[in-house]
Amino acid sequence: MTFGIKRTHLASEITPALDGSQVTLLGWLHEKRDLGGLRFLLIRDRSGLVQAVAAKKEVSPELWEELSSFKRESVLAVKGIAKASPQAPGGAEVRIREVLLISPSEDPPIDVVGKTSADLDTRLDNRIVDLRRVEPQAIFRIQSTVASAIRSYLRENGFIEVFTPKIIATATEGGASLFSVFYYDRIAYLSQSPQLYKEQLTSAFERVFEIAPAFRAEESDTQRHLSEITMVDAEAAFMDYQDVMSLLDGLVERVVKAVNEENRRELRALGREALEVKVPIPRITYDEAVSILDRKGVEHEKDADFGTVQLKALSEELRDFYFITDWPTAARPFYAKPLEGRPERCESFDLMYGWIELASGATRVNDGKLLKERMSSQGLNPDSFKTHLKWFNYGMPPHSGFGLGLARLLMVLTGKDNIREVVMFPRDKRRLEP
Ligand code: ATP
Ligand code: MG
Repeated sequence: MTFGIKRTHLASEITPALDGSQVTLLGWLHEKRDLGGLRFLLIRDRSGLVQAVAAKKEVSPELWEELSSFKRESVLAVKGIAKASPQAPGGAEVRIREVLLISPSEDPPIDVVGKTSADLDTRLDNRIVDLRRVEPQAIFRIQSTVASAIRSYLRENGFIEVFTPKIIATATEGGASLFSVFYYDRIAYLSQSPQLYKEQLTSAFERVFEIAPAFRAEESDTQRHLSEITMVDAEAAFMDYQDVMSLLDGLVERVVKAVNEENRRELRALGREALEVKVPIPRITYDEAVSILDRKGVEHEKDADFGTVQLKALSEELRDFYFITDWPTAARPFYAKPLEGRPERCESFDLMYGWIELASGATRVNDGKLLKERMSSQGLNPDSFKTHLKWFNYGMPPHSGFGLGLARLLMVLTGKDNIREVVMFPRDKRRLEP
């Protein structure tokens, strides 16, 4: 350890059972209080908080003075004796013998202690300090559990994790929401989705997944859209969209179970009960959803994607998780496979929670000729997809998959209605920093 002090215990390990032991804590000064002859320092580390107390009689006059000079968020090493103390949070505290200021802090730009802190914009401007607060701590610890649960679930189901390029030469689904970048002497684009790569890879590995950034130049300013997102993409040979929905049933179930088991403390910090999901998640078709809207007298455009108004109306009937399946072919990307005998509908789905879309998926067209036709009928030029289409001549298996927005899922799990709360460093039309 370069600075020569070794931590003996984490905050959470200071328990009554340690009474009388020498301990060394390393962490941040979360809060401090003076009470006559006692000075309290609340020390925060990755495990939580612990109270350290200096009694004027027990420490040197120099240390006593120094203690009042430390500012919140300074990094400290605290040496002392653990003591059982029924009044202390956690039933034990540390009686201070020595304190070393490892790295001082200025007065923090936002309150780290308070439950109600600054407004979201100010918090995001000061994100690194904001992330020390209880709520963001809980959100991003849950995110880590979610990512890890998704990885193990997909790996157990025979998927391998892959990493595809994010600088690309052509648009995946048409150019509308693409960011362009200078690429040496030409223009390249930031990838909106690993769609084409993951489809191609099913012909080599059968089952692949990727957790990676995707970039979307979203014009609308909403609580659920950002310009840079983390997408969970999976694609499997020899599955159809019904199989993929079953895969998602298992995935959501696994994620919920993992968060309930590993993040009890974090859920409590967010004021959440244990999470629940009943599988199989209900599946309703687009046409059934349309009948619900008709029954409720909610207007909708024929064979079009639903807007917020329609989704909010549907969510009054369909709470929690549900799938909407068999979408109009015209409202989905060219690679979604039309239903046999009913080509105006396709083998596709959205996974919803209330009115929020979490994931989209489909059986893909695996016939090169049909794929070309589908491109043309959606106004795309098959010539710009030459390299993609080429691989359909070399044993492309039937395949299906989904793309899930990690942050959308995290919004549902943490009960947040603004996506900016659950993304560490959100990017939108106005925000490019920090
Ligand atoms: P939406 O209709 O909500 O704009 P989409 O249908 O355009 O989403 P897809 O291309 O289906 O998005 O992407 C798959 C998933 O990625 C979505 O279901 C959503 O969870 C997430 N996602 C897509 N775009 C964004 C975005 N701009 N910000 C946050 N998440 C997004
Ligand atoms: Mg979608």
